[in-house]
Amino acid sequence: MELRASQTKTYIKKALKDDAVRDAVDKATQTALAKRAEKVAIIPCWEDFRKLGHAAKRAVMESLDENLVRFETECHNNGMKVHWARDAAEARAIVLGIARGNNVRTVVKSKSLTTEEIHLNKFLIDEGIETLETDLGEYIVQLLDQIPSHLTAPALHLTRKDIGRVFHEKLGVEYTEVPTELLAIARAKLREKFLAADMGISGVNFGIVDSGCCVVLENECNARLSIGVPKIHVAVMGIEKLVPSFDLLPAFLKLLPVSATGQKQTVYVNIVGGPQRPKSGEGPEQVHVVLLDNGRSKILADPQLRETLFCIRCGACLNTCPIYQQVGGHAYGWVYMGPIGATLIPQYLGTHEGRHAPFISSLCGACRQICPMNIDIPHHLLKLRNRVVEAGESMAVERAGIAVWAFLAKRPLLYRLATWFPGRFQKLLKGSFPVPGWSGARALGRFDGKGFRKRFLELEKKSR
Ligand code: SF4
Repeated sequence: MELRASQTKTYIKKALKDDAVRDAVDKATQTALAKRAEKVAIIPCWEDFRKLGHAAKRAVMESLDENLVRFETECHNNGMKVHWARDAAEARAIVLGIARGNNVRTVVKSKSLTTEEIHLNKFLIDEGIETLETDLGEYIVQLLDQIPSHLTAPALHLTRKDIGRVFHEKLGVEYTEVPTELLAIARAKLREKFLAADMGISGVNFGIVDSGCCVVLENECNARLSIGVPKIHVAVMGIEKLVPSFDLLPAFLKLLPVSATGQKQTVYVNIVGGPQRPKSGEGPEQVHVVLLDNGRSKILADPQLRETLFCIRCGACLNTCPIYQQVGGHAYGWVYMGPIGATLIPQYLGTHEGRHAPFISSLCGACRQICPMNIDIPHHLLKLRNRVVEAGESMAVERAGIAVWAFLAKRPLLYRLATWFPGRFQKLLKGSFPVPGWSGARALGRFDGKGFRKRFLELEKKSR
């Protein structure tokens, strides 16, 4: 399924008519929020963890160049090979080069938004390499030829019935909607693939600078099997995923799972510290780390928006967002969605393709309140709205409206007449103005006909 961020309005209209998706998204996000709130309530120093996480990310970003070089050196000392990719094409070519050089025919993957960002699956499959997602949610969306609809729960938009139907149609098994049975079907299909795979690909949650380790969090053990069973492991990591030291890792191991799924801890914490050691006989023979830029250094160079790189992809801002709750993730038209996605889309894809994204927000501020990294998302959305307007990419109707207002604002008499008229006209109408897309569900407030100046003077008098 190919989505375009520029087509977001079409996707939103479609999503708003899809009651099943809205119900599934609403239920899943409310459950996640309730679980998170429960855990946050019993962690007395939650705010301190947030501050620590934010400060650690700020510190690592301030000298990201040096930190990346140190990380590369430490990885090298641990026996891993580090590759640098300027963009998606380079990253794909590096992964393909590793695969071809080792005669790889089958790949198992664990969930990774970074690999979704570079369309790695499709690329490898087109190159004749069987590539299978092994996270249950990702496996389901891959069967449906969709992209994930949530940062941590890829199939959040689907119900048990949907999944039962997909398994029945795509895997040829008997229909069931019992979660344990669905799980058993997926497990049976996937287990043999882990054992036969030549290469495993994962993302990276945290790259530890001072020790050259890659940390991958998960709940299903599929990442551990993808990392540990095949003879080659390739970890694809955005350059912003660094954390300064091992000492700080526990704070992130708290911030991410609590915010994402309301778990005190994920079931598995995989720390990749190099390939198989001599005589151990366990683990991959080769570990490669692909460091992906793909626009991140451009964001880093922008002091006003740099903070958006602090995101640890927990998905909490999606869960709490009243817009995401209504439309789900596909409506945003790209691999990153929700409030943080709305800031990333124009930054990665440009203000033309991503011109609508910063406006998919009510600016209520719930995302900022919940974000474990204390990212001021509403502030960044406003900045990006400003950039969209400056780039001449705002909607024609909006530009026309502002031009009319500017014309009137410079002519006080006309302005007074224009603000007096709607109130008079509304009295004649004996109701509120019909506004397409608004009046169908709610009434527009009534104009009182006094206009802003008169009301302002009245209020001023009253407050004296
Ligand atoms: S912006 Fe904050 S809340 Fe949203 S996904 Fe990133 S870390 Fe989580």
